[in-house]
Amino acid sequence: MALRKILTQGDSALEKVCRPVEKFDKKLHWLLDDMKETLTASGGVGLAAPQVGILRRVAIVVDDQEQMIELVNPAIIHQEGEQDGMEGCLSVPGMYGKVCRPNFVTVRAQDRNGNTFEVSGEEMVARCFCHEIEHLDGHLFVEHTDRLYTLEELEAMEEF
Ligand code: ZN
Repeated sequence: MALRKILTQGDSALEKVCRPVEKFDKKLHWLLDDMKETLTASGGVGLAAPQVGILRRVAIVVDDQEQMIELVNPAIIHQEGEQDGMEGCLSVPGMYGKVCRPNFVTVRAQDRNGNTFEVSGEEMVARCFCHEIEHLDGHLFVEHTDRLYTLEELEAMEEF
């Protein structure tokens, strides 16, 4: 396994629509293993393949049990409610913005061997599913907010 470099906003790989995964082979498994290692090292809660320069529909989301869920060709098939909250992205380091997301989502995806499964999440996990799946269509959270905050501003707001 190896750490992969996380691309940041401005890199054209983050603006592309990713292709579906068709081969559930060793190369996919290496990508997933590398993404998990990279995510752990970064301290984030989700990572999408285009963030490491791979234009395929692959993402990792950390759930509320601290488990990493591997999502291949994921799609949101159900959503409910709304939540407003601060969101950040490993590709937009040090910046946060308020983004409205569904409060509950169900995702249908394939695992590393091509088996289809469904997984649901609420609050932070639902937010993360939406955020990561959006990356696969070339979108960043900053498109949903008109004001970005630094970590210092965020901390000042929370103290207030
Ligand atoms: Zn992101």
